[in-house]
Amino acid sequence: MPKSIYLLALLALAACASPNPYFDGGKAHHRPDGFVNSDPSLVIGQFPWYEILWRRARGDFRPQAEPAGGYEAFAARWSMPVDHDLLSRRHQAPVLTWLGHAGMLLQVGGRNILIDPQLGEFAGPVSWLSAPRRVPPPLSVEQLPPIDLVLISHNHYDHLDRATVTRLAALQKPRWLVPLGVKAWFDSEGIAGVEEMDWWDARTDGALVLRFTPAQHWSKRTPFDTNATLWGGFAIDWTPPGAASPWRFLYTGDTGYSRDFAEIRRRLGPVDFLAVPVGAYLPRDFMRPQHADPDDAVRILLDLDAKQALGVHWGTFELTQEAFDQPPGDLEAALRRRQLAADRFWLFKHGESRPVGAPPRPPERRADF
Ligand code: ZN
Ligand code: ZN
Repeated sequence: MPKSIYLLALLALAACASPNPYFDGGKAHHRPDGFVNSDPSLVIGQFPWYEILWRRARGDFRPQAEPAGGYEAFAARWSMPVDHDLLSRRHQAPVLTWLGHAGMLLQVGGRNILIDPQLGEFAGPVSWLSAPRRVPPPLSVEQLPPIDLVLISHNHYDHLDRATVTRLAALQKPRWLVPLGVKAWFDSEGIAGVEEMDWWDARTDGALVLRFTPAQHWSKRTPFDTNATLWGGFAIDWTPPGAASPWRFLYTGDTGYSRDFAEIRRRLGPVDFLAVPVGAYLPRDFMRPQHADPDDAVRILLDLDAKQALGVHWGTFELTQEAFDQPPGDLEAALRRRQLAADRFWLFKHGESRPVGAPPRPPERRADF
């Protein structure tokens, strides 16, 4: 047989979906060859190659306009120096630091939890095929405090960055919590201490309970692995000794608006602090199922009964059509439309830290007489 036939056979084999080793027929989001959303009719990621090409050519994946004043002014306005002294201390009551895009450091219950860290120069497999960074990372991997847990929401390059993760693994030995199917990538990088989670799975660490929660999104790292690994978000409950109920943090992960959040509210209870994407939402015909816009993000806040929210997944990488300075205005308008206070939904500067919750109160004591 000529070599070209072998090559074609090899390509055909590679293109065939490989079986899902985690497949559990009793779970609605499992398929023999991968995973689907809670609404199984909403399959995202199976775009024909020519659609991606023409969308790229017409400019769907880069901002149509520069932010007012240009990118340098935007970066200056939306950045601040990291408070390294604050980060170096252990905190019981929660403190959250935005590291840009969807990257966060949550310090709570004496633990340091790093979420979707992406401190690289670009988001993608190689620089020429990637979304460029427009705002410098607020710190380097070397400047991070000791990290106990790293949470990875899914395998897209703006959430699972090889440069950041391999550097961190070389310096520290944290515990990694990842979606089903993502451990293989860590194995190939020689990184140990990785635990895979399915939706609703829980892990404990001290006074914390961490759960992997559903979201409406998709996954892909190579041309051959669309939706072969799971995606989702993380709920973190912190119950200090004597508290009647936990303080609850939820990071939705990348998601379109879906009924998943009403279900999370129903199963877990209300959320004290929510981190939810408010960027990468235009053009709407392409992004709506997979990325919330600010209005969707406000609906998610309401579905979860979230006391307070932070908008993430904006203002760092060139991913989509909206200008870098459009999400803040759209978010303000969405809150106004629903008559919610403007400060119910925060946006941090890159590197900014804030306390994000008071310790839960102990149960009320009843008088015995
Ligand atoms: Zn994604
Ligand atoms: Zn993303």
